[in-house]
Amino acid sequence: MSVFTKIINGEIPSYKVAENEKFYAFLDINPNAKGHTLVVPKEEVNKLFDLDEETFNELMIFSRKIAIAIEKGVPCKRIGMSVIGLEVPHVHVHLIPLQAMEDIQFIKKVKLQPEEFEAIAKAISDNL
Ligand code: AMP
Repeated sequence: MSVFTKIINGEIPSYKVAENEKFYAFLDINPNAKGHTLVVPKEEVNKLFDLDEETFNELMIFSRKIAIAIEKGVPCKRIGMSVIGLEVPHVHVHLIPLQAMEDIQFIKKVKLQPEEFEAIAKAISDNL
């Protein structure tokens, strides 16, 4: 069982942003930038392009809604999107508020306190 399945099942805590019957969005615990959010299909599939076409399309539609809310709730120039999955073998879309190219490079990390994570998750979900 992946760490993200445990999060979806509530066995591991997360800073939840949004959820529907097929997807779960929450803040990345080691963010590139404030507001770095992960969008995960509840079905545990390893690789993005192994998703069936319908789930893939729905994941993009759900991610778009979250990205629009992040852009309203978190100061940034735009939202970057990336799918990697080398660390956690459960499909997840990274949505990252960008100020500069480095923000999408998974090199520069920001350290946030629990209260900051909570405030950011609320700022995003309030804009959904
Ligand atoms: P990757 O699989 O390379 O796309 O990276 C996995 C991402 O998941 C990283 O950005 C991690 O910081 C993030 N991550 C891993 N465990 C957790 C967790 N328990 N809560 C939130 N984010 C996590």
